[in-house]
Amino acid sequence: MTTNLKTETPLLQLVGVSKHFGALKAVDDVSLDIRSGSVTCLVGPSGSGKSTLLRTVNMMEEINEGAILFEGKMIGHEVRNGHRVPVSKKVARQQTLNFGMVFQHFNLFPHYTALENVTAAPMIVKGLRKKDAETIGRRVLEQVGLGSRMDHYPSELSGGQQQRVAIARALAMEPKVLLFDEPTSALDPELVAEVLAVMKGLAEQGSTMMIVTHEMRFAEDVADEVVMMDAGRIIERGAPQEILHNPKTPRAKKFFASVG
Ligand code: ADP
Ligand code: MG
Repeated sequence: MTTNLKTETPLLQLVGVSKHFGALKAVDDVSLDIRSGSVTCLVGPSGSGKSTLLRTVNMMEEINEGAILFEGKMIGHEVRNGHRVPVSKKVARQQTLNFGMVFQHFNLFPHYTALENVTAAPMIVKGLRKKDAETIGRRVLEQVGLGSRMDHYPSELSGGQQQRVAIARALAMEPKVLLFDEPTSALDPELVAEVLAVMKGLAEQGSTMMIVTHEMRFAEDVADEVVMMDAGRIIERGAPQEILHNPKTPRAKKFFASVG
């Protein structure tokens, strides 16, 4: 959604971010602005650094170079005595609460019901009382279309329903940015649409989202910006129609031809 003025500070900014694994630059000098309420789809071949980039944002990976700013303020690191140092664990924990992540494999607790899966973090991490966590839990499960499945265990739910529980679990923590890493890649084809529909609904309600996906039609439909990565770098970016139908680099042309 493009309701914000261009002059507004982006909600999230990556400035020259690099993440190395030994000699490998998994993320190599990536700069990106994410406006509040916008949807950014990250696309690119396997191994291009999409997951690593998402993981740097919510501090699952410590960056080697650059800076990540949230609401204009650096997160993950701070400058002390002129040196850049990681923030304390306590501060890091607080900062990561701004982000909710949804993974390819939903990783629900098998012995918890849908509602219990969703209320666990608000109770444990935020210290909410059960009653209050359940109020939020019911609301977010309704939001993902699972109002009638709250007391079901993961094994009693389809893969699409399980992934929707995982989305509800992220929503229950009321994050400011939702990060999705190939949320439909582990699903049977007939279950993909229900998950994408929930994500589209969140976009329409103004959620800020970064989504790694190979679903190009979804990207075209929902994204404000598509960012293509290759070998750790952003090689093309722009409006979905532009990137998907008129890629400029040979690498992007080849990639989009292969993914349809
Ligand atoms: P994508 O999500 O685009 O498929 P990844 O971010 O998973 O790509 O990986 C980017 C590169 O970084 C790959 O070459 C991958 O093998 C490497 N990589 C990712 N995580 C690690 C890690 N923990 N240790 C070493 N190399 C890693
Ligand atoms: Mg990945």
